[in-house]
Amino acid sequence: MKIITAPSVYLIGRQVVDESEIFQFLAAHGVEWESDSEVGAEVITETAGRVCYMSFAKPRPGGNAAYLHHIKEVGHGSVFEHAVWTIIVTGISRSLSHELIRHRAGVSPSELSQRYVDCSDVDFVLPPAMLPDHADFLTVETFIDGGGTDIDDHPAYGGWDRFKWWRARRSEDLAEYASETRRFTESAPADLSGTDRRKWARQAARNVLPNCTETRAQLTVNARAIRNILEQRGSRHADAEIRRLANVLLDVFARAAPNLFGDYIRTPLPDGTNEITTPYPKI
Ligand SMILES: Cc1cc2nc3c(=O)[nH]c(=O)nc-3n(C[C@H](O)[C@H](O)[C@H](O)COP(=O)(O)OP(=O)(O)OC[C@H]3O[C@@H](n4cnc5c(N)ncnc54)[C@H](O)[C@@H]3O)c2cc1C
Repeated sequence: MKIITAPSVYLIGRQVVDESEIFQFLAAHGVEWESDSEVGAEVITETAGRVCYMSFAKPRPGGNAAYLHHIKEVGHGSVFEHAVWTIIVTGISRSLSHELIRHRAGVSPSELSQRYVDCSDVDFVLPPAMLPDHADFLTVETFIDGGGTDIDDHPAYGGWDRFKWWRARRSEDLAEYASETRRFTESAPADLSGTDRRKWARQAARNVLPNCTETRAQLTVNARAIRNILEQRGSRHADAEIRRLANVLLDVFARAAPNLFGDYIRTPLPDGTNEITTPYPKI
């Protein structure tokens, strides 16, 4: 059984600009312009704003960074919808994914199916409140191969008894899931066979899996939606696990597109996570 203590975010898709098409468009309208950003999503966001006002000629100084900063100041957030990425998120609980998919606008999720996929060897996400001193130093690998710090020996682990209890419950969950799967497979309607029979059993057996069951999702998401997620889920009022994910998302996207996400400020909270705020909320 794997116990996961931190989410992983893989940025698998990003935008590429076709510069020759931009030049053709500009030439057709008698203007010259070139962005100083090398990030496709930032260039595409800038062109969206400039198309609105045909402001390619004689741009103000400061380049792409200043232009996108101005968009944030005036709250012209719809142009941020042109910047799009695809990510895969793993190591999150089903309770977190339920919160994440509440973000309807500009987010397209595809989540691991508990009906098609056998959950008998599923992983579990340790709630951040159970980490030693709320520290995030126990990595996934720690539990998988014992190559890192062994939690059984860790002197700093304040909630040891509680963790032992939690881990035992998860083993029981897996045993219960296996027994429910067997029971429902035997009692499945006789006309079902193969995949349908397995699906029928798994969709019923999953009722015994807890909210902390690990899940994975691929999300295609635009910059405006990412900002909404960072602000709502990076808030001090958000659940600690999704705030931790919001901080990983900020790491990923501030690196991928600093001019779109570089305005965020992190403030440490007593539980070891960071609150995420910006002078330009809800653009
Ligand atoms: C701390 C916290 C606690 C929460 N507690 C609960 C809870 O107890 N129960 C619960 O059910 N949910 C809860 N939520 C979820 C919350 O209510 C939202 O569903 C979720 O945060 C998504 O926000 P959103 O609607 O802004 O996002 P999106 O759905 O992505 O929408 C983005 C923006 O688009 C606009 N928009 C989207 N859809 C519409 C629409 N239909 N009409 C008009 N404008 C629209 C709005 O401006 C919205 O802010 C909580 C969220 C947080 C952060």
